[in-house]
This record gives sequence, structure tokens and C-alpha cells, in this order.
Amino acid sequence: MRLDVVSLAPEAFSPLLGLGVIGRAFQAGIASLHTHNPRDFATDKYRKVDDEPYGGGAGMVLKPEPVFAAMEAVPAWPQRRVLLMSPQGKPLEQADLRRWATNYNQLVLICGHYEGFDERIRCLADEEISIGDFVLTGGELPAAVIINGVVRLLPGTVGTQACLEEESHSAGLLEHPHYTRPAEFRGMAVPPVLRSGDHGAIARWRLEQQKQRTQQRRPDLFERWQAQQ
Ligand code: SAH
Repeated sequence: MRLDVVSLAPEAFSPLLGLGVIGRAFQAGIASLHTHNPRDFATDKYRKVDDEPYGGGAGMVLKPEPVFAAMEAVPAWPQRRVLLMSPQGKPLEQADLRRWATNYNQLVLICGHYEGFDERIRCLADEEISIGDFVLTGGELPAAVIINGVVRLLPGTVGTQACLEEESHSAGLLEHPHYTRPAEFRGMAVPPVLRSGDHGAIARWRLEQQKQRTQQRRPDLFERWQAQQ
């Protein structure tokens, strides 16, 4: 998978390249990361990338020309998807990460900055994505979140496919609790069923725990899951 990021702060992405399994996926060539800084495409003397909003108001707005020019310098692979980071976008879900990881071989992530971006930048994107109902200073952390989540799903990044299928959000329920040795720790014991060796009973217990947890913690997800059964 080829990942292109259009950002005024490309240095924000270097930590991803050294980040555990994600970093190793980049080293192994499972994914490649390319940054494009709109400032390098600003044509005026001061390399200006922002300006005051028409109509007045607080803050500066990202100008369209350097962002369009940066986008036009990004190679376009046939299966490419362009994502715009925005608190006004569709809230990100695991299903989106899976859809991008499966259907595309290039993702372009455009990061806003300042008060936001000129409205005309919106037409560069196929999708507008928010990572939650809060506001950050720039799109770099949201883009890094998406890159982490997508690269993690690419074949070869994470040990086994089963790990990916069983985890929270994949099947619509949160994951069941996990325990490892010791069997008893500071008065807290591992549920006996997990030590019984009875795989049927363990599977039933885990599913029950998943349902209970989801119902308690995320009634919204639980309702959606029930409707799909
Ligand atoms: N004034 C704008 C917010 C600008 S925040 C508004 O109210 O919509 C500056 C930039 O940070 C945004 O353009 C976007 O790229 C990024 N950003 C901030 N919060 C985000 C979020 N929750 N999800 C995705 N991107 C976000």
C-alpha cells in the first residue's frame, strides 16, 4: 500500500516509521510513506500557505493553490482514495479502515491546519473523515491514526489473521477479557473455565463476556450487533 500525506508538518509522521509492528511493516515494504508539503508548492516570495478569511473572523485559513499544487504532484495509482482530515467528516470506524485496506492500494491523506482550509479544498477528496467529536490543531495526528489502523490490517503486518478477526469492533462486539499467568495474582483469580481445557465451554464463556461487556460499555454497538443477528 502506498500512503501519501499532504501536510505542513511532514516531520509529524517519522515516529510511525519506528513504531513497533507498524514500523516493521514499512521496513518490510508492506507499506510506503511519502509526504508532500504544500509550502514547497507556494509560489510567492514568503511561501505563504495561509491567509485571512473572507468576511472576517478569527484565525487563518489554508489557501487552495499550494494544496492543489501539492496534490497534483502526488502520483495517481488506479486504486487510489483521497481522504480529507476534518472534524466535520464521517466519524472513523474499524469498517472504514478495513474497506480502505482491502479495496485500495494508495491512500492520500490531506491534513488541515490553522482555523481550517479553504472550502474549495474539499473537492480534492473522495471522503472527509473525523477521528472523533473534538478539535485538534492539525490533521497530522488524525492521519497518523488512520495510517496505523490501515497498515495494521495489511497482510504480513500483524501475526495472524485470527488476531485481527477476534478483536474489538471486528465482529461488532468488544473483545472478551484476557488473562495470562499467574493463575492467582494479589487475590484476583483467573476464571476457572479458562483453565478447564474445555474449548466449547471457553468459547461460550468468551461470547457471553463479549455480549455483557458490549451491552454495559457500548449499548449503541450492542443494539447494532443485535439487529444484525
Ligand atoms: N475550524 C475548523 C477546525 C479546524 S482544526 C472547524 O471548526 O471545522 C484544524 C485542522 O485539524 C482541520 O482542518 C483538520 O484537518 C484537523 N482536525 C482537527 N480535529 C480533527 C478531528 N477530530 N478529526 C480529523 N481532523 C481533525
